[in-house]
Amino acid sequence: MTMTLHQAGLTGASTSVSYQGLTPRQQDAFHRALKAAAQATNVWHIKDIHEFTAAALDIDLPHNDELVECSCEMCPDACDRIAPLSLCAEYLDGDTQRPQCPACADDHRITSD
Ligand SMILES: [Zn+2]
Ligand SMILES: [Zn+2]
Repeated sequence: MTMTLHQAGLTGASTSVSYQGLTPRQQDAFHRALKAAAQATNVWHIKDIHEFTAAALDIDLPHNDELVECSCEMCPDACDRIAPLSLCAEYLDGDTQRPQCPACADDHRITSD
């Protein structure tokens, strides 16, 4: 299934976007933002970074939420969707919690046990 990114109006923000569908500038902004968020020590600063990044990527991010990249292992082609953490399912990979985007969780949810 392919989703086409079209010009979103004021009410047209998506709940998730494909990394490949981003412009090089948006991909760059996303990487820098994640790096900045990883280095930030102030939780409000981290929230701000995620909020600004969501706006730059045209994602509808719920308040106090975070952007994550899908780490689904079930997709034949690695899934590259970026979505709000609260909408993602999470599964345990060893000791690490990994997010699975809403589309993947609907289609082939990974359960830890
Ligand atoms: Zn998947
Ligand atoms: Zn996914």
